[in-house]
Amino acid sequence: MFRSLHMKLTMIMLMLIGSQMTIVGTFLTTGVSGFYTNSFYRQLNSVFGLDQREFVADLRNAAGTDNGAENLREMLDANAGPLGIDYHSRNYFVLDGDTGAWLAGSASAEALPMEQSLNLLTARAAVARGDASVVGDESYLNAEYLDAAIPILSEEQSYIIYILDNQETLSGLNRQLFHIILQSLILGLLITALLSFLLAKTMVGPLEKLTAGAEEVAAGKFGKALPVESTDEIGILTGTFNEMAGVLHTTLAAMENERDKLDTLFLYMTDGVVAFDMNGAVIHCNPAATNMLQRKVETGSRYDELFGGLFAFGDVLALKRPRHAEGEMMVGERTLELLLAPFSHQELGGVLAVLHDVTERHRNEERRKEFVANVSHELRTPLTNVRSYAETLRDAEGSIPPDMSNGFLDIIINETDRMTHIVQDLLILSRLDAGNTELAFTRFSFGEAIESVVRANALNARARGHELSFYPEGELPWVEGDRNRLEQVMMNIIGNAIKYTPDGGHIRVTAGVTDDAQQVWMDVWDDGIGIPEESRGRIFERFYRVDKARSRESGGTGLGLSIAWEIVQRHRGTLTLPPHDGPGTTIRLTLPVTQKRAGREAAS
Ligand code: ADP
Repeated sequence: MFRSLHMKLTMIMLMLIGSQMTIVGTFLTTGVSGFYTNSFYRQLNSVFGLDQREFVADLRNAAGTDNGAENLREMLDANAGPLGIDYHSRNYFVLDGDTGAWLAGSASAEALPMEQSLNLLTARAAVARGDASVVGDESYLNAEYLDAAIPILSEEQSYIIYILDNQETLSGLNRQLFHIILQSLILGLLITALLSFLLAKTMVGPLEKLTAGAEEVAAGKFGKALPVESTDEIGILTGTFNEMAGVLHTTLAAMENERDKLDTLFLYMTDGVVAFDMNGAVIHCNPAATNMLQRKVETGSRYDELFGGLFAFGDVLALKRPRHAEGEMMVGERTLELLLAPFSHQELGGVLAVLHDVTERHRNEERRKEFVANVSHELRTPLTNVRSYAETLRDAEGSIPPDMSNGFLDIIINETDRMTHIVQDLLILSRLDAGNTELAFTRFSFGEAIESVVRANALNARARGHELSFYPEGELPWVEGDRNRLEQVMMNIIGNAIKYTPDGGHIRVTAGVTDDAQQVWMDVWDDGIGIPEESRGRIFERFYRVDKARSRESGGTGLGLSIAWEIVQRHRGTLTLPPHDGPGTTIRLTLPVTQKRAGREAAS
């Protein structure tokens, strides 16, 4: 309660009034006492002072008579006015000069102080010395009374005129003064109480409103601005507070916006992000990180459990920007690239871990290496053949019979063709990879395309004693696509069926449209050598062949299906191996009927 500004102001004002009154009272009472004492001695001087030598001489003369004490009393009585004798608080006495005993006076002997005052004792000593010049001085001011003693010496008898003021008048005056001051004090206090209420209204009220407003802002509630009711310092403070709250609101909103953006980014980014506090406890983990680490990462999980095996937490925390720690870790089948960096060295800092799934990159790298090795190998074999046959022909210098040398030359030409074939296929693939192959999309009859490919293969099939048939299921629609490329795909699939089926086999081509009329499909069924289970997933890989020798014999490069796969991919279709009963293989091609719609779907 005493800590409130209102109370403090009231207390200060009360203390101010109290001390003011005390000072005034002290000055007044001291002033009045001083004035009273001064006037006492002034009055004495006006009667007994140096200017009044005649009167003093008269007093001595009167003292020399028989009835000296009585004469003196009469003379003093006559001067009662100038001496201020009121017969009540101030009296005069005629005392014996030697003993100090009461002889006469305006009051009885009881009115004299119990002990003789210093002034009186001094006067008596002066009488004893015969010195008549002493008049009581102010040296004994602190006594309860004021007094003065005047020795009157004569031949016969010595007297002391003793003037005594018991200060009752002064006390009465002081009492009255005290009452006045007390009344003023009470009035002052009442006014103070009233003023403090007014102050509370004009000063403390707005401050209380300001405090309530600040509490609201501290609680995050940015309501209406506080009304500015005055132009004084409090008004300026309220205005400044409103401005500050406005800036704070805008800043907080901007920060919240940033945080939302970051949250959304963390939520949907494909890279995993895990944040740790200074003690190595998880404070944030996005879904991508949970996915990659293949475990539930809860807030509070420890750094050591997750990445402790790669880098010590303390080492990462000690890194200076822009340095960071980088490593790779395996989680199940997947390879994760890990980047660790401290995000702040302050108390609220910690370590940020960014996870990147590099499994595909690694696989691609592997595939690329494998591909280069395959290309070199595939080209080296025919090149070695060409070289060795050419060398044999050169070294023989015509000693080889012509039909044999012709056979050698045929081999050289075949191998050269083969290399040309491989290089052509590689060129097609690399163009498809680079996206440089422009597909000429047209609308054509899916059924007609299959028929033309079947027709083109009929001779080849007959040569091998195969029965090649085509059974469309219902009416086949027109489709959008690059007819030449798609016919190349069909040619490859049907060609493979012919190639990998022993003579006298059966190749059945069926085709149809899906129930929703969105896709067409074509199945090429054969009862040939079939594809072993372990190779089913690999036949679309570049240079993959189940039986290298057989493929080579039949002029295959192992690139046909991979080219077909790429072409079908660019049409947003699929090439699959559906289940096949009995010996042989079935390869299925599916294609969307319209390319544009598929594009829109993909985009939406
Ligand atoms: P290739 O030029 O060797 O025929 P492809 O890419 O066309 O290359 O085919 C890859 C491999 O898939 C072939 O070498 C063969 O082993 C296998 N294959 C493809 N079609 C069939 C099929 N109908 N029956 C059995 N094996 C097949």
